[in-house]
Amino acid sequence: MKRNDIIRLLSTLPLLTSMNPLHSLYQLSENMNKTARMPVLFLGHGNPMNAIEENQFVHGFRNVAKNIPSPSAILCISAHWYIAGTKVTAMEHPKTIHDFGGFPKALYEVEYPAPGSPSLAQTTKDLLAPTSVELDDSWGLDHGAWTVIKHLYPEANIPVIQMSIDYTKPASYHYELAQKLNSLRDKGILIIGSGNIIHNLGLVDFQQIDKVGYGYDWAIEAHTRINSLLLKGDYQSLIDYKKESNAIQLAIPTPDHYLPLIYTLALHDKKESISLFNDELLAGSLSMTSIKIG
Ligand code: ZN
Repeated sequence: MKRNDIIRLLSTLPLLTSMNPLHSLYQLSENMNKTARMPVLFLGHGNPMNAIEENQFVHGFRNVAKNIPSPSAILCISAHWYIAGTKVTAMEHPKTIHDFGGFPKALYEVEYPAPGSPSLAQTTKDLLAPTSVELDDSWGLDHGAWTVIKHLYPEANIPVIQMSIDYTKPASYHYELAQKLNSLRDKGILIIGSGNIIHNLGLVDFQQIDKVGYGYDWAIEAHTRINSLLLKGDYQSLIDYKKESNAIQLAIPTPDHYLPLIYTLALHDKKESISLFNDELLAGSLSMTSIKIG
């Protein structure tokens, strides 16, 4: 729990002033860590350069972290670990993976030395049973994870594990699988899906790669439709995106950057609020739309 949260909470509990304040503070903090239900995030990660640039999206990432309880650990489902089968990283010290090409040297020099969490990896494997889950010791943190988590938690002091996306399975499978992770939210675990809802790299206007608010007609149509489905909670239509219009098919030419969204939506309890941030089209065929649930 952040200091400001503790102060805010204490101000609502006048009875505590008659007790030993330090002792009370400790007890309160302990209880909140056990019971606070963590929100779930979907983060549009976009260009890896966001790791080292200052822009509105980076500010959005920082801002969301300021407004949620401090997690005990993070489980990230990244578009960039898209493999046959389900694995979770289980090493003590995941390496920073620079899984991209053609960027400035400064980007390759960035390290994000957050610890791993073998115990969270094992818990995740247990929760997903009977789905076969391999405890992995060779992956690490790919750029779908570290380029954004770095802005949420720049001190790299929160353990992070990643879970792969099984590319042999349809969206409906991922929606059901993700629901098994629900109880982690009550254990202080922040679950983050990292991808991009609209992501057609083949059609990106590289002359205007940083042009915020610039979307082709089909991207504008897909953006409007998807946001409408998100905000009215029609997740079945989002799972069945292949039945949607041509605009949606252009927005989601491959499932890798879209499926992390499905993981996030699967963890939405209907009574919880959902809000969008960084909700911008970019470079013609990308969107940075990010989501906070809870
Ligand atoms: Zn990506």
